[in-house]
Amino acid sequence: MGRMPLHYDLHSHSIASDGTLSPVELVTAAHAAGVDVLALTDHDTLDGLVEAGDTARGLGLQLIPGVEISVSWQSQTIHVLGLNVDPACKALQVGLEGLREFRRWRAREIGRRLARAGIGGCYEGACTFARGNIVGRTHFAQHLVAAGHARSVREVFKRFLVNNKPGFVNGQWAGLETALDWIQSAGGMAVIAHPARYRMTASKLRRLIAEFRAGGGVGLEVVSGSHSRDNISAMAALCRHENLLASCGSDYHGPDNPWISWVSCQHCRRAVSRFGKVTAGRFNKPVLQ
Ligand code: AMP
Ligand code: MN
Ligand code: MN
Ligand code: MN
Repeated sequence: MGRMPLHYDLHSHSIASDGTLSPVELVTAAHAAGVDVLALTDHDTLDGLVEAGDTARGLGLQLIPGVEISVSWQSQTIHVLGLNVDPACKALQVGLEGLREFRRWRAREIGRRLARAGIGGCYEGACTFARGNIVGRTHFAQHLVAAGHARSVREVFKRFLVNNKPGFVNGQWAGLETALDWIQSAGGMAVIAHPARYRMTASKLRRLIAEFRAGGGVGLEVVSGSHSRDNISAMAALCRHENLLASCGSDYHGPDNPWISWVSCQHCRRAVSRFGKVTAGRFNKPVLQ
């Protein structure tokens, strides 16, 4: 009789970026959902990690300190997860502060552009949803829905916040190699987040992976809340072919998102467990005491 495999969820957000739950609420919800090992991976910030770590200790859940870094690569924005990063690492802290500086400017710029398109007050509205944290596009989307300009967050992105739409501001994020350096300086492991979401051609994705590996990256997020079943199968095959580690995370942003598990999901289990050595468990080396 084998023991039940641990339920890993290596991608989640709190109010420190664009999630809706505080770190305490997030870790409590993960624990209640049966997650054994949770990575908190807020966009470009480490702010929620101490609070999440304290809560996790009290509940007996293992918290992996993480971050989701915004990267500009070949005129696209991609997301690179740093798992098991040391939050005290100066190079990582200073690097992320630069990205947040861009975010602060970008939020005001999105507000100005939407105002020019005839929708005023969006910056202020988005600030309300960010509750004192850095304002991201999700907060604009939440405000625009609340103000009656669209029916859903998804619709706001499509109509206002993506390329060629009135509130779009081009991302000026970290270079890939730079982000990988920060993660490795902090002792962490780098994982390409939700690779199927970038809609890259197979050859472009292979080029991304080649550069990612050359810079020290080790993992591909195979099971993700934003991957379809077909995406999971395709990314599992790619991951095996490239001999990368397979990661699994729901990309949880709040109670509207399901927790995804490769343990309870038959399909995910087949896709991820076929690897043998390639399991999410490889990331299980917390640095926070
Ligand atoms: P930002 O990093 O501020 O540019 O915002 C990116 C975040 O917006 C992602 O992490 C998602 O949480 C959210 N997002 C991006 N595209 C969409 C979409 N089409 N529908 C809903 N949320 C989205
Ligand atoms: Mn997000
Ligand atoms: Mn992402
Ligand atoms: Mn995410």
